[in-house]
Amino acid sequence: MTQARKAVALISGGLDSMLAARVVLDQGVHVEGINFFTGFCVEGHTHAIRRRDRDRPKRNNALWVAEQLGIKLHIVDVIEEYKSIVTQPRHGYGTNLNPCLDCKAFMVRKALEWIETHGFDFIITGEVLGQRPMSQRKDTLPVVARESGAEDLLLRPLCAKLLAPTRPEREGWVDRDRLYDFSGRSRKPQMALAAKYGFTDYAQPAGGCCFLTDANYARKLKDLWTARGDRRYELDDIMLLKVGRHIRPAPHYKLIVGRDEGENNFLRGYRGQYTHMYGTSHQGPLVLVDGTPGEGDLELAARITARFGQGRDAERVEVEVVDRAGGARRLAVPPLRPEELDPGWYL
Ligand code: SF4
Repeated sequence: MTQARKAVALISGGLDSMLAARVVLDQGVHVEGINFFTGFCVEGHTHAIRRRDRDRPKRNNALWVAEQLGIKLHIVDVIEEYKSIVTQPRHGYGTNLNPCLDCKAFMVRKALEWIETHGFDFIITGEVLGQRPMSQRKDTLPVVARESGAEDLLLRPLCAKLLAPTRPEREGWVDRDRLYDFSGRSRKPQMALAAKYGFTDYAQPAGGCCFLTDANYARKLKDLWTARGDRRYELDDIMLLKVGRHIRPAPHYKLIVGRDEGENNFLRGYRGQYTHMYGTSHQGPLVLVDGTPGEGDLELAARITARFGQGRDAERVEVEVVDRAGGARRLAVPPLRPEELDPGWYL
């Protein structure tokens, strides 16, 4: 190797991208990390809010990985550009609403723009051949390289030996013999490599690196699109889908019901954007009302609010209903009885 080359590693916060960056760092390459914030990232969001998860460490895993590796991390906001990836993926969705193939190509394309601007030489990802059904198959790995425009500047250190040599390998920027040939869904080779490096405390995302792989989340997002009549969303929408019980008694409105103090506090931040309600005679949830409820709907919403509060067995509960402009009034309502709560309303 004649000259220290510079690479940017896509860092999701999971083990694979951490190992991939480390393998290349070990070859004397200058590596910096890049993490794209799409709004759907799992990273410490809801478990930073919910009371029952308070004991879990609240950390940004991408930052933590960068710290472990001793590299700089660039967190790039791609919320706006990412919308078309989610709403109109060329290659469709995986099991839920995860457009993994389009998403990977998009992120590598953004990384390519980044290296061109910053004078870096190549891109590293933690992909493993055959590990994920959509974006990491033998026939789809080339799609990511081609559609992103990165072509052979994209190095996958964990499975490079199973792929054609890339430019960093051909030019001797990295030694191909010191890269890996991991394939398949088993995590054992990665865990062995992690042990070799002394990594013990890494994140292990179950289905993927974002909420779009989560069936419950995907159902709520589909419902949002159906209710709006088209596939669009704002950051607030997709954040709120991660929080609370979502209950849709009718197509034109839904309720977001805080499940504990942490969620109630979080939802309180949206009071100016939604009609909201809460019990005043008894403690209970803060509830946001999304949509265009009529008077009868608000009364039903108040009864549902009462149902989830400490007055659920009381004859009547007083509920304060506050519109977006701050206009408040009180309704005294009987809490909804369990048999009146249609299970089909739950999203
Ligand atoms: S799991 Fe989410 S972030 Fe990861 S590749 Fe798929 S769509 Fe992209």
